[in-house]
Amino acid sequence: MSFKNKVVIITGASSGIGAAAAKMFSKEGAQVVMVGRNETKLSAVAKQCSSPLVIRADVANDDDARRVINETIKKFGQIDVLVNNAGMAMKNGGLLGNDMIQVYDSIMNINLRAVVHLTSLAAPHLIKTKGNIVNVSSIGGLAPPIDSGSTNYCISKAALNHFTVCAAVELGGYGVRVNTLSPGPVKTDFLENAKIELDFDIFRPSTMLNRVSEPEEMADVILYLASDRARGVTGSNYVNDNGMLIKKP
Ligand code: NDP
Repeated sequence: MSFKNKVVIITGASSGIGAAAAKMFSKEGAQVVMVGRNETKLSAVAKQCSSPLVIRADVANDDDARRVINETIKKFGQIDVLVNNAGMAMKNGGLLGNDMIQVYDSIMNINLRAVVHLTSLAAPHLIKTKGNIVNVSSIGGLAPPIDSGSTNYCISKAALNHFTVCAAVELGGYGVRVNTLSPGPVKTDFLENAKIELDFDIFRPSTMLNRVSEPEEMADVILYLASDRARGVTGSNYVNDNGMLIKKP
């Protein structure tokens, strides 16, 4: 899966799945563009990549999103892969939570609106390279939520899944593939960042394989979907969840 001479933008590259993907793409020869807000974390990951372009940006900010694409084109002249990985959840992100509609806006702005915006900005460049997009969703977008406080997160990911299909239809004629990865629980800072005081190991018994995943396992799938090996794969949703979706309660 060589990505030599390929320019790969990864949002949320400062942590977890995005950081693992940035390191793996870099190892496979890609020119990596790392996007995130936390400068310290971005720098730490960047040290493990080969000459990455690091762009400190909030994907939900329209000017920042435009800057991500413009700086990438200025430096490399092309975009081959866009990994829309940046995402978040919030504790009490349900209908009965405080400030419900503000929480809805925050989650939808990052998990959906920013993806739609970045995709539209990258699309003309991806058409030129016959490139592709990988959207990082969640099994929360495919099944009823495991708790009552994640309604906003789950609907953002369900909408993201359908956006993948719509974008795959719209861009397929230009040779651009668009796919989704839907992870189950993955050991990252995700819960901590959402202020949810749970250890990922709590999800083990809810999976067929009695385990939770490491970020590198998700990066493996992202690289596969972004590679020429997946040249016939578009509009798909790849579930990687240790069999959580198929486990009966
Ligand atoms: P982390 O919290 O470890 O990483 C989230 C990343 O998103 C960080 O790099 C963060 O960077 C970035 N990010 C969040 N908001 C913004 C923003 N507004 N602008 C730019 N970057 C942003 O979690 P994961 O690695 O686990 O999450 C990655 C993706 O995987 C998410 O989309 C999540 O929904 C999905 N997922 C995760 C699961 C899990 O169990 N971990 C399960 C299913 C799906 P920074 O703070 O620097 O801005």
